[in-house]
Amino acid sequence: MTEIIDGKKIAAEIRGQIKEEAKRWAAEGRQPGLAAVLVGDNPASVIYVRNKRKACEEAGIYSEEHKLPETTKQEDLLKLILRLNNDPKIHGILIQLPLPKPLDTDRVLYAVSPKKDVDGLHPNNVGRLTMGSPVFVPCTPGGVMAMLDYHKIPIEGRRAVIVGRSNLVGRPVGLLLMHRNATITICHSRTRDIAAVCREGDILIAAIGKPRFVTAGMVKEGAAVIDVGINRLPDGSLVGDVDFPEVSRKAGWITPVPGGVGPMTIAMLLKNTLESAKRNL
Ligand code: NAP
Repeated sequence: MTEIIDGKKIAAEIRGQIKEEAKRWAAEGRQPGLAAVLVGDNPASVIYVRNKRKACEEAGIYSEEHKLPETTKQEDLLKLILRLNNDPKIHGILIQLPLPKPLDTDRVLYAVSPKKDVDGLHPNNVGRLTMGSPVFVPCTPGGVMAMLDYHKIPIEGRRAVIVGRSNLVGRPVGLLLMHRNATITICHSRTRDIAAVCREGDILIAAIGKPRFVTAGMVKEGAAVIDVGINRLPDGSLVGDVDFPEVSRKAGWITPVPGGVGPMTIAMLLKNTLESAKRNL
């Protein structure tokens, strides 16, 4: 029997725990705070930031949004980040990606104080993660790990295949699994015979951005299949990188899209903001 990993339910439990803890801190006048920076009006980014702020409000975390025009100059964005770095109300700074083209994403991410880098994208935090002693675990990879743990899916000694090697998802999730003693393989667009490689995975993570790329023929019987992808089809519906109807007949565990990894990412952002507040207050 395939178990469906209900990200919405797991995330709601985590958010409930965060709410309790944030309430205790706020009662002592030490409310955690998140600043979201949105440049331009990419429709998906606007929705992501709105959802993240709504989740903060529900969890009792202070949040503020800095919405800047598409034409914002790099210096102005860096000045805002510097101000937020020094603002004692703010414990987490979220730069919503992607940034409009002329802006230098790396320079902008490097400008965020590593102490407030709740997305875990600053090189100091990437380095700490690589060394196995993360300060902030990046939110989506952290969410994937929390789902595996919630369902007590064995990691140690297992083969984990990750499809996608982005700094945001594929690479950090590979590191987290390796630190938990999985044997990892990270695939990308140049991987040869990707189907055969994927079939070796006791855990298969898809983070590519290609609708229904992973078919049943690419999955080992009984594997845990985690679908990070979010793809909007021309008819407006959302699908993941995994062909859910087919693969769910073969997998041992599987995440749906929507309602899988997405809600976990937001829960982990709240968790990182709370932890940052506890460290820095
Ligand atoms: P990304 O930066 O575009 O990276 C995509 C990765 O997939 C790259 O490493 C690329 O390989 C690889 N790839 C692309 N086509 C491939 C193919 N045909 N075969 C094998 N590998 C292929 O994407 P991302 O930021 O990691 O995001 C991936 C997906 O996750 C997107 O759908 C995104 O919307 C979603 N996402 C969801 C959440 C969430 O909260 N659920 C969070 C973040 C991202 P190369 O490196 O060789 O180009």
